[in-house]
Amino acid sequence: MFKLAVLPGDGIGQEVTAQALKVLTAVKTKYDLDYTFQTGLIGGCAIDETGDPFPQDTQELVAQSDAVLLGAVGGLQWDGPDRKVRPEQGLLGIRKFLRIYANLRPVKCWPQLIEQSPLKKERIAGADLLIVRELTGGAYFGARGTKVVDGVNKSYDTIEYSAEEIRRIVKVAFELAGQRRRKVTSVDKANILDTSRLWRRVVEEEAAQYPEIALSHLYVDNCAMQLCLNPAQFDVLVTENTFGDILSDQASVLGGSLGMLPSASIGEGSALYEPAHGSAPDIAGQDKANPLAAILSVAMMLRISFKNSAAAKAVEKAVDTVLMQGLRTADICTTGCTCVGTNTIADAVIKALG
Ligand code: NAD
Repeated sequence: MFKLAVLPGDGIGQEVTAQALKVLTAVKTKYDLDYTFQTGLIGGCAIDETGDPFPQDTQELVAQSDAVLLGAVGGLQWDGPDRKVRPEQGLLGIRKFLRIYANLRPVKCWPQLIEQSPLKKERIAGADLLIVRELTGGAYFGARGTKVVDGVNKSYDTIEYSAEEIRRIVKVAFELAGQRRRKVTSVDKANILDTSRLWRRVVEEEAAQYPEIALSHLYVDNCAMQLCLNPAQFDVLVTENTFGDILSDQASVLGGSLGMLPSASIGEGSALYEPAHGSAPDIAGQDKANPLAAILSVAMMLRISFKNSAAAKAVEKAVDTVLMQGLRTADICTTGCTCVGTNTIADAVIKALG
């Protein structure tokens, strides 16, 4: 039996996870899924209860699970410069615990939400891409320091990648492209950086194993521009940690709202599914949060961890139907639409599942 750990976390994490679970339960009956779930603490609520943002009980729960569904962590009550223990340490802790190295961020321009984007609709129509970001290497993890040289402060950060770190993420990208439109764009800065030249060499080596996938390379600066000019040209984008961090935020604008962006993180242990947004303290507890990112994260879980693409497609189609019906939470509501709350829109998704 498939075991799911559910870690709602803080703020709207609690609300959107509850709705995503409701949808999963509806799919369970219809698609005959065999799973159980157990909830645990992470982030600020875990600090309040145990003093630890990723407590031992949660570690044990996660260790015994096949997948993890997470809401979001954080909130003003745990912020402040003197705080040594912070909710975000829970996120870093679980990623490390699951030995996660790949972050998958699908971004789609929903035709129903195209007016929400600050970009021109004729440019972004049809965009449907997946960013595969390496998570464990690059500048965020390399040697760094600050020293005084001739009375002047100097700092440095080092970008390091091994061929094996590159190879494992590139494999993920090629495999996922095989389930999509069979196009991989590898993003680097190989005209300048040694790590990018190694990256490009490994990508070329791996591409030989996937003759059915069309591969192209793009410098990161050009990629940033192309994401605004013609995002529909992309299927799977694969890139290193820092480039992926920046490009995935840039691409998120295509989705219409943070509340529409799901994500999955995969590694050597169980996969972790979470909406891309944070705990949104400004709207927490008001039935205003958009649960669709969490619900679409469940669709990713159904496809990747449950290996049930029929159920995944059904959830995605139900979200599409609800948007077609004109139902919207406040973050995506425009004139002529019906503005509803967190619970109501999730119930509509369940109804649309049939
Ligand atoms: P945020 O994503 O929580 O919110 C940014 C803005 O988007 C807010 O105006 C919020 O109301 C809105 N928003 C976000 N998700 C929404 C949704 N589902 N529906 C409707 N509106 C939504 O980012 P922030 O305000 O910078 O951070 C708030 C807290 O969340 C901080 O403590 C931060 O550290 C934490 N955070 C956590 C994660 C995570 O758990 N993965 C990610 C980002 C931020």
